[in-house]
Amino acid sequence: MQKIHVKTPLVEMDGDEMTRIIWQMIKDELLTPYLDMQTLYFDLGIKHRDDTDDQVTFDAAKATAEYGVAVKCATITPNQDRVVEYNLKKAWPSPNGTIRGILDGTVFRAPIILHNIHPMVRTWKKPIIIGRHAYGDVYRNLEYKVPGPGKAELVFTPADGGEPARLTIHEFKGPGVIQGIHNTEKSIRSFARACIQFAINQKLPLWFSTKDTISKTYHAFFRDIFQEEVNAHKAEMDAAGIEYFYTLIDDAVARVIRHEGGFLWACMNYDGDVMSDMLATGFGSLALMTSVLVNPDGIMEFEAAHGTVQRHYYAHLRGEKTSTNSTASIFAWTGGLARRGELDGTPDVVDFAKKLEAAVIETIEGGEMTKDLTLLCDPPADHYLTTEGFIHAVRAKLDAKLA
Ligand code: NAP
Ligand code: MG
Repeated sequence: MQKIHVKTPLVEMDGDEMTRIIWQMIKDELLTPYLDMQTLYFDLGIKHRDDTDDQVTFDAAKATAEYGVAVKCATITPNQDRVVEYNLKKAWPSPNGTIRGILDGTVFRAPIILHNIHPMVRTWKKPIIIGRHAYGDVYRNLEYKVPGPGKAELVFTPADGGEPARLTIHEFKGPGVIQGIHNTEKSIRSFARACIQFAINQKLPLWFSTKDTISKTYHAFFRDIFQEEVNAHKAEMDAAGIEYFYTLIDDAVARVIRHEGGFLWACMNYDGDVMSDMLATGFGSLALMTSVLVNPDGIMEFEAAHGTVQRHYYAHLRGEKTSTNSTASIFAWTGGLARRGELDGTPDVVDFAKKLEAAVIETIEGGEMTKDLTLLCDPPADHYLTTEGFIHAVRAKLDAKLA
C-alpha cells in the first residue's frame, strides 16, 4: 500500500507513564505503517523537562504557534511526591498551563459518543462541548476576612493620574468577608474568538451564557464583548452556517439537560469548571473525553482529557497485563491529523483520520473494549482486551477500511 503523505509536520509532544507507552504503540501500530509523516518531536516527559529546566515546554509551544497544529500526550504535573519519585530539581509548573499561557488558548473538551456506552442523561445523543474561559474571576481573586464593623470599598486608581473611582461595597456592622475579582477585555475577546474559531471548524452552533441579570456590569461585559466578536465574524459564521445563541446560565443549564447535544457551550471560568466535570461524568468516561486547545487565530493542540494513568503504569512496570483505554489518545492524533489535512488541503489525510476514528468506534461498538468500558456498556461485555489487544483490534478494523 502507498503511504499517505502528510505535507506539513505535526508538532508532537511526548509525555509520561502509561500514556507514553500507549503513545508509542499508537505510532507503531496505527500511524507509521500508513502515513509518510514527519513530526517535530518534543519530549515533554518529566525527566526531559527537568533536564532542560522546562525549556522544552516553551520550545514546543513556540513550534505549535509557528506550525499551527500539535498533538500532545498526557504529562505529569509534578507535586512534592513526584519531585522525590523522579528526583527533580523542582516541581515544574503544569505544561498545559504553560502552553495555554503562551498560545493564549481556550480548552474545549468533547466526549466521544458510542452506541453501547449510554450517557447518564437519556436525551444526550451528540457531544456537548464546553469551552471554558480559563482566566480570572474567582481563580485570580483577592479575599479578605472582615474582622468587625467598617466600610469596604472598591477603588480604581487610573494610571494616567486621573481621579480615582471609589464605590462602597458594604458598610459592615460586624464581621464578614469580601472578595475582589477581575477580568480583562483582551482575555474575554480572545476567549470569544477561540470559541468562534472552534464552532466554525467543527460546524457547531455556539451557545454562551452568563448571569447578566444579576451582574449587570461584570457579566454583562462578557456578554457584550462576546456579541461584538460574533458581529465581527458574522460573514465567516454565516458561511459555515453557525448560529449564535445567548442565554442566561440558569436557562442554559436547563436546556442542556433536555437537549440532544451537538453544540458548543462557551462558559465563564467557574461555570466551565463545574459544568465540564458534570458533562464528563454524564457522558460516561474520562477515557472517552478528548481535549483541544484553540487559540484566537485558530492554532490547535489536541490531547486526551485524562492524565498519565499512573496506577496502570506501575502495574505495567511490575510486568502485569494492563487494560488501558487508548481511545482519547488515538483521537488526539486523528484530531491533529484532520486539522493538518484541512490546513494543508490534503483530503486523503483527513480521510485517513476519519477512518481511524471510525475503526476505533466500530471496535468498541462491536464489543471489543478495555476494562474501564465493560463497566459502562450495554449490552454488557463478557470479556475485555489488554492495552495492546485493543490497539490490535483497532488495527484490524482500520486495515479492512483501507483495503
Ligand atoms: P488520570 O491519569 O486521568 O487517571 C485517573 C484514573 O482514571 C485512573 O487511575 C484510571 O482508573 C482512570 N483512567 C483515566 N484514563 C484512563 C484510560 N485511558 N484507561 C483506563 N482508565 C483510565 O488522573 P490522575 O491519576 O489524577 O493523574 C495522574 C497523572 O496525570 C498526574 O501526575 C497528573 O499530573 C497527570 N495529569 C495530566 C493531564 C494532562 O496532561 N492533560 C491531565 C490530568 C492529569 P483506575 O486506576 O481505577 O483504573
Ligand atoms: Mg472542575
